Amino acid sequence: SGFLSMGLSEKTLKAIHKRGYKIPTAIQRKTIPIIMENRDVVAMAKTGSGKTACFLIPLFEKLKQRSSKSAGARALVLTPTRELAIQTFKFMKDLGKFHDLKTVLVLGGDSMDSQFSAIHDNPDVIVATPGRFLHICMEMDLKLHAIEYVVFDESDRLFEMGFSQQINETIRRLPDSRQTVMFSATLPSCLVDFAKAGLTDPVLVRL
Ligand code: AMP
Repeated sequence: SGFLSMGLSEKTLKAIHKRGYKIPTAIQRKTIPIIMENRDVVAMAKTGSGKTACFLIPLFEKLKQRSSKSAGARALVLTPTRELAIQTFKFMKDLGKFHDLKTVLVLGGDSMDSQFSAIHDNPDVIVATPGRFLHICMEMDLKLHAIEYVVFDESDRLFEMGFSQQINETIRRLPDSRQTVMFSATLPSCLVDFAKAGLTDPVLVRL
């Protein structure tokens, strides 16, 4: 079964086609339908498996289009490094090009002022590194009540890089009603504990 059987919108299918994807990868076949059913997911997947599209495709289907009200961002993607955040942001621009969504990048090392104004501009999606994201949340007293979909990408690296405190603090600020998905190449015990605390009845997906 291919992308056509996943119940995706025309806009998403068109972007997938333009990107040249013919069939979903194994992890996409397993993960996308579960995320579309609004379940929390822990997916074990390495870079190169097509993991990014696993969380981006459902994101587009959930958010569909830019909300008319200035209600606050609805999706948050946290990645361990600037490079990965930039790469994910570009991927999102491409795969989401037919969806009218506004995405901002919030990265450590960049100017805080430009990030403040980008967030004041009411993005639908925030792609961020955890330290700077929490810093911005605190500085701006940013309300996260509208966040409905949260992605922790390369979670093992998030923890290796020492972001566990920032992540726990961010989780504390997020609404309980959110959907949370976690991608990781490995599943060390600290991540199992985190998944138990931060995710609701998650489905474990491995190849
Ligand atoms: P990722 O694991 O997300 O870093 O993706 C690795 C590479 O696979 C990226 O260049 C993607 O554009 C590509 N890719 C993702 N899904 C597919 C697919 N279904 N068919 C072909 N290439 C894909």
